[in-house]
Amino acid sequence: MTSGSPPICSFCGKPQTIVATLVLGPDANICDQCVRVCMDITAGSPADVTPKDSPSVLSAAPAIESTPIRPPKVPTPTEIYAFLDQYIIGQEHAKRILSVSVYNHYKRLFVPTPDGLEDVELQKSNVLLVGATGTGKTLFAQTIARLLDVPFTIADATTITEAGYVGEDVESMLFRLLQVANHDVKRAENGIIYIDEIDKISRKSENPSITRDVSGEGVQQALLKMLEGSQVNVPVRGGRKNPQGEFITVNTQNILFITGGAFHGIESIVKHRLNEKQYGFMSESDGTTIQSTDVFEHVQVEDLQKFGLIPELIGRLPVIAPLQELDEDALVRILTEPKNAITKQFQKLLAMDDVTVTFSPEALKKIAKIAVLKKVGARALRSIVEAIMLDTMFTAPSHPGSSVTITETDVDTYATATLSKALRDKLRSDNGQ
Ligand code: ADP
Repeated sequence: MTSGSPPICSFCGKPQTIVATLVLGPDANICDQCVRVCMDITAGSPADVTPKDSPSVLSAAPAIESTPIRPPKVPTPTEIYAFLDQYIIGQEHAKRILSVSVYNHYKRLFVPTPDGLEDVELQKSNVLLVGATGTGKTLFAQTIARLLDVPFTIADATTITEAGYVGEDVESMLFRLLQVANHDVKRAENGIIYIDEIDKISRKSENPSITRDVSGEGVQQALLKMLEGSQVNVPVRGGRKNPQGEFITVNTQNILFITGGAFHGIESIVKHRLNEKQYGFMSESDGTTIQSTDVFEHVQVEDLQKFGLIPELIGRLPVIAPLQELDEDALVRILTEPKNAITKQFQKLLAMDDVTVTFSPEALKKIAKIAVLKKVGARALRSIVEAIMLDTMFTAPSHPGSSVTITETDVDTYATATLSKALRDKLRSDNGQ
């Protein structure tokens, strides 16, 4: 952070501009929200169960019953963007879209209606993130929940089935949100649910089915009511088998649903719709398809419908945010720049043993190259770096005071030991060797 930047909370990282109060100390600062969490902890409230991937304790609600929802200072879209920027590399277009939609969500919840506009009902804008695996869809949802300080949970659309079939029902995700909110219904009703793999519940053909389609259309139908905002009876024990018949009624009107999917194959639907030559998806000379990384930028409602989402569901996901595939440069930045970048994590781990570790630019570039070849976006980065660092992590702690540099040769050794011959050849030819 440059010296001109506003001070940030040392616990959650939020800048002074987006919190109500920031108490400044000589070496550390703390915001009002973190003070509240600390008070809950010291008051002996049992620590809540934070979902596995949840980025911070702030996304788990403090253990207080019926906490009044305190209107926070509403950050502007540019402030929200700046916050997302600390954690997410690239994806500028998606960041802008989400900054605006999160801002509007805040306003719906916390800003008083101006006089004379009481009759205008602000509908919520659930979000659909469209992008390949490992482009940061889950990271977006997690980062937004961290910013908003609201209960947050991740659900997987593929585990949900239509009522009456074996599997989870849609109410189970509300139950999990309630758990994270420590059964404070009011807090849960302002939470965020990220539904991953929404593309996996597409129906198999564009025409409505006559018979029931357990894995696809039926589940989409089941999601509809919840997404648009309704009173949902959530079985207290989460499952539909609930002999006591106890329910908690949750109003989903203010719950922000962020959905995400890779939508494999939608590229051809988009390309087909667009004038292919005009948009340069086809090479003019020989007619071969050119890999286009920004096809998702052009996804429209009709493409999603062709892919197999029912129109009613698409209608309840009015904000479509496309995520681009991450190229080599973006992957190098992901390795080094975010607040909790992978290389920083290893540097911290080894600094605890008084060992300094640096990564040469060539090594970082090659790690990114390998990740591109593996075709799973930024997801590949961690496992590659873990494998490369294994020897260092094993020996370095016995040599406090030493310095280690990870070089391109270290990455080559990893590549030789683990990559298939086809990938190794590709890596070599990319290097012009
Ligand atoms: P997706 O949900 O799109 O499959 P994830 O959000 O789970 O992808 O990302 C996988 C990993 O890559 C996570 O560790 C995430 O932090 C990292 N990552 C992905 N995209 C980005 C990005 N744009 N900026 C920083 N880190 C990223």
